[in-house]
This record gives sequence, C-alpha cells and structure tokens, in this order.
Amino acid sequence: MAEKITMVNGKLQVPDEPIIPYIEGDGIGPDIWKATVRVINAAVEKTYHGKRKIQWKEILAGEKAYHATGEWLPQETIDACKQYLVAIKGPLTTPVGEGFRSLNVTLRQELDLYACVRPVKWYSNVPSPLVHPEKVNMVIFRENTEDVYAGIEYRAHSPEAGRLIQFLEKELQAPSLSHDTALGIKIISEHGSKRLVRAAIQYALRHRLPSVTLVHKGNIMKYTEGAFRQWGYELAEQEFAEHTFTWLQYERIKKERNHEAADQAMKIAAAQGKVIVKDIIADNFLQQLLLNPQEFSVIATMNLNGDYISDAAAAAVGGIGIAPGANINYETGHAIFEATHGTAPQFANTDSMNPSSLILSAVMMLEYMGWNEAARAIVRGLSTAIMRKKVTIDFYKQMSDATLVHTSEFATEIIRHL
Ligand code: NAD
Repeated sequence: MAEKITMVNGKLQVPDEPIIPYIEGDGIGPDIWKATVRVINAAVEKTYHGKRKIQWKEILAGEKAYHATGEWLPQETIDACKQYLVAIKGPLTTPVGEGFRSLNVTLRQELDLYACVRPVKWYSNVPSPLVHPEKVNMVIFRENTEDVYAGIEYRAHSPEAGRLIQFLEKELQAPSLSHDTALGIKIISEHGSKRLVRAAIQYALRHRLPSVTLVHKGNIMKYTEGAFRQWGYELAEQEFAEHTFTWLQYERIKKERNHEAADQAMKIAAAQGKVIVKDIIADNFLQQLLLNPQEFSVIATMNLNGDYISDAAAAAVGGIGIAPGANINYETGHAIFEATHGTAPQFANTDSMNPSSLILSAVMMLEYMGWNEAARAIVRGLSTAIMRKKVTIDFYKQMSDATLVHTSEFATEIIRHL
C-alpha cells in the first residue's frame, strides 16, 4: 500500500511504496522528466523486483499550474511538499515582472530548505575544460536562506535608502555615503551558519570523506563571512570534537609546540579517519578548484559564494546539463531534488536536451531515501551510456566519434545498462 515518507525522532522513515510528489517543470522540463521517471522506475524495478516501488503524485507549479489554476505556485503544491517530505522537480519559469518572487526561492523559503547540496563529479568521457577532470569529486553545501538573498535591498534615491543612509551616518557613524547609493543588507546568522556546517560535517562523516572546507571572504567581511568561518570551527570543535580535526587546532599546536608537532597531529587525525575542517578565502578557492581540485571533498559556504562556486565547479566537469542538486532541511526531513539548470525554453518539446542533471538529482533522492542499490544502478547505466558515447547534443558537439541521441533515447540507453 502506498504511504507517506515520515520523519520519526530525526530519522527518515521510507515505506516500500512511498508516495513522492513531482513537478514536471516548464520548457524542457516535461522532456527531461519523462526520461528521468522511466529511468527511476526501471532502476527500482530491476533492483527490488517489485518489493519496492514509487507511487508518483503529480503536483503543479509554473506555467502548467498557471493555466490550470491561474496561480504560478498553488498553495496545494506547497502543502503537498510539506506533507510528503520528499519531492522532485524540473526547472520552472520565473514570471518576468515586478512583484514575482522566483518560484524556486519561494518553495525553499516555505519549507526552510536551508542546505543546497550539489555534488560535482566527473564521469569518464564527459567533455571538460580541465586536463585532469577526474580529480574533481566534491559536494558543495550552499546555505540557502540567508546572505544578500534575504531580499533586504533598497533602490537608490528611494525614501528607505535615504533614511537608512541617514541612520548609518548619524547613529552608527558610518563613513558618509553618496546620496545616490543603493543599499543591500547581508544577513549571516550564527544558527544559520552552524546548521549548514553541521549538515556538511555530518555528510562527510556519513560518507567517510576526508575534509570539510569553509569557503568565505572573511578577510573583507569580518563580521559576516568571517563569523561564518569562526562559527564553523566552533561547531566542529564543540559538536564533533571526537570526529574532526580543525585548522584552528593545528594553529594552536603550532603555537604551543611547533610546526612539526602540528603536522604530526593532523596526520594522525587523518589516519584515524577524522574529518579535517579547514577554510579558504573564496577567490583563492576558485583558483584552487582549477589547479588542485583533489584538495577538496565537502565544501560549506554561504549563499552568494555557493551560487558562483557551484556553477564554476559544474563547468569543470561538463556543465549544467549534468549538474544535480537538492534543497534539504535535515531537521524536518523536507527535501526537494532538482536539476540546477533552467527551463531552456527555446528547446522545449524538442526531445534533445540532456536529462542527466535531473537523473542524477533522482540518484541523490534515492540515496537520501536509503535506496542506495537503485541509485548505484542508475549511476552505472548513465556512466556506461556516456562511455559508449551515446549522448545528447550538448556533449555530442564536444566529443569526437560520438552518436547523437534524443533525450528519450539517452534514457533508453541508461536503462539498457542499469
Ligand atoms: P537555462 O539553464 O534554462 O539555459 C541556459 C542554456 O543552457 C540553454 O540555452 C542551453 O543551451 C543550456 N542548457 C540548459 N539545460 C540544459 C540541458 N538539460 N541540456 C543541455 N543544455 C542545457 O538558463 P536561462 O536561459 O538563463 O533561464 C531560462 C529560464 O529558466 C528562466 O525563466 C529562469 O528563471 C529559469 N530558471 C529556473 C531554474 C530552476 O527552476 N531551478 C534555474 C535557473 C533558471
């Protein structure tokens, strides 16, 4: 019997026949969703022989919702995501014009999906601008609710900007600001930073990964990004003392004893399987991502850095056609899995685009549910399809001797190799 996924005492309870809502999405969404759902169903059937099965439940958002209900994001859809905990979605059009919030941002805020999780991994034969793309294998945890995305922004010449400028100058003795200044406020809280870093460390421990790197611009923004770094280290040392070794500990040992002792302590910690918690300035990180990607496994960062970093990292391993993502609240269990690209409307209904990003998002969903065998089967099928160079147009254009296939044919190819 089909049942809801629930959260009991902080643990996700997944029945053998879970009901999972899906949003098909706009533009290329229907094409890539059709391919994805076939792949998921085939992998689950092949792995569990009917013992497990997903009961799909369509929910509406975007253009399809607008045509059916006159609303872009019906309350019913938000309620279904709340009720069923785990959902998957294709890309959605953000209606252009003043007063429309992005549907994706609204969903993330409504469900408080504070961690945007994006694995970045290279699959053999995928065209990449790097000489050694196989060295890239990391998971980015981007804080999803704070930073300059909180939407506290005032237009230049507005009365609000005028009042704020006056307040800053008069009350807080800020340096004087030109009257035509626009202002935005950067929000970084202790609890917001800590829950994100906690999720990143727990992920590293669960997957036995060697390090968590805090990426920040704390040298310039001391009380926001600098605090993120400080809170990240504090959390590691307070909540994960037995399972982590931080660069702050390293510095303390170096100061109290010497360089060699600090090196030795870190080496022993790594050999014991402790997660090394370190940090790096964001601009340097973007450089090291290309030069020394093997140094990074889990990344924890704030919203804006995370936005830039995840696209740059995705480009290093083949671009947005193959970049999966999830938005998760690890306390409530709510999660929405989604491709990171948009609706590419000019290619709608052409059955030509790459469904890999949504298919790999489905892999993340199955892993989140604990259905790891089915997840592995899909990765196997997808890797084989790419190795055999049967690929969609985005990869085809960059590969030699490849065979061009449609979105639906690519799915068939994956299913053949599950
Ligand atoms: P886009 O990601 O839709 O497309 C940019 C280009 O990337 C496309 O023209 C195409 O060449 C390529 N591309 C995208 N997906 C691909 C795939 N699966 N396979 C191969 N190539 C692919 O970005 P855009 O054109 O800036 O945005 C279009 C719409 O999507 C906008 O309405 C925007 O608001 C929306 N959007 C939605 C999401 C989301 O739902 N999560 C994310 C980003 C943008």
